Amino acid sequence: MAEIVLDGVSKRFPDGTVAVAELDLTVADGEFVILVGPSGCGKSTTLNMIAGLEDITDGELRIGGERVNERSPRDRDIAMVFQSYALYPHMTVRQNIGFPLRLARMDKARANAKIEEAAGILDLTDLLDRRPAHLSGGQRQRVAMGRAIVRDPRAFLMDEPLSNLDAKLRVQMRTMISRLQNRLGTTTVYVTHDQTEAMTLGDRIVLMKDGVVQQVGPPEGLYDRPRNLFVAGFIGSPGMNLLPAEFTPEGLRTPLGLVPPTSRITEALRNGPPREATAGLRPEAFEDARLPRQETAQLPAFTARADIVESLGPEKYAYLTLASARSDGVPGTAAPDARAPVPLVARLDAKSPVREGELLELTYDPTQIHLFHPETGTNLI
Ligand code: ATP
Repeated sequence: MAEIVLDGVSKRFPDGTVAVAELDLTVADGEFVILVGPSGCGKSTTLNMIAGLEDITDGELRIGGERVNERSPRDRDIAMVFQSYALYPHMTVRQNIGFPLRLARMDKARANAKIEEAAGILDLTDLLDRRPAHLSGGQRQRVAMGRAIVRDPRAFLMDEPLSNLDAKLRVQMRTMISRLQNRLGTTTVYVTHDQTEAMTLGDRIVLMKDGVVQQVGPPEGLYDRPRNLFVAGFIGSPGMNLLPAEFTPEGLRTPLGLVPPTSRITEALRNGPPREATAGLRPEAFEDARLPRQETAQLPAFTARADIVESLGPEKYAYLTLASARSDGVPGTAAPDARAPVPLVARLDAKSPVREGELLELTYDPTQIHLFHPETGTNLI
């Protein structure tokens, strides 16, 4: 069993900085968990505490059911992969991959078999006699992975292993890591600040901010049911559109107009909401009203100006400014900031004829609205 349990784990540096505050997390045996969050949120410190490279100030760390707080890194039986690869330049690929086996004094024939098996999995067989200087960035990263997997550790810890690679290679390596994890089934904790990596790689995401966990769950859980505004804004690219909103006797009023009362809105009303809220709509909640739709239900509509249109092949991103909020004409009941220009981004079907500079009518799906407390940012539903 290589379950990793962090039980109220905190890290306070000597200068008083609290990098991690009372973190509770159980990574199940064989699970792939991603630690994600903005720079300085405590991801690397958390990983370093699991690795034993950083002392734990408070709380308990258990690996495979045993307390390991006081155990040295080499006695934790876990392998770490760094952003910098940390390969030995004077050694060949074979020697680099085999280095931990040499340290463990494994006999040569067995070590070679293990090196070749790892090289096969990572597609490095033809490169075993090269030195790191003669490898591409992606190949170097695969050697670093090989050095980690050859030990059959209880867990892998990876700290931004792909951030030195160009965008295309990053995508390739991402799939390789997913395949590797499916094949080996080794417990993995992976640190990244890239939300796309977080969304595509892990079984579960741990999203941190200022040393505090904001939400833990499967990627789609954080995307569809963000617990607060920070999660809503961090997960998803382009990000969620956020609009001022007001609960009125007629319903929820936003710069898009009066939103039809959906079950989410009724639910928020039942919880005794504040008078004002922040409404959130993902870019895919919008559609060009000119396109035919399968459902017959009437969707609410609004008009916006398309400032910039990006065509990505199967879809288009339209960066919009809300032309004018619809109003019911009753003075004093306009939405908050109804007349201030409101920027929006819509993810539209490639078939949309949208052109830059035009005023277009968009519909939106009101069932996809999120509502957040205007001060605490907590999801109201
Ligand atoms: P990044 O993505 O930039 O690597 P991170 O989320 O991994 O960020 P950490 O490196 O874990 O963040 O740092 C968390 C906090 O602890 C930051 O505020 C950082 O400045 C602080 N910190 C890290 N190391 C030390 C140290 N040795 N002494 C004091 N504060 C530190």
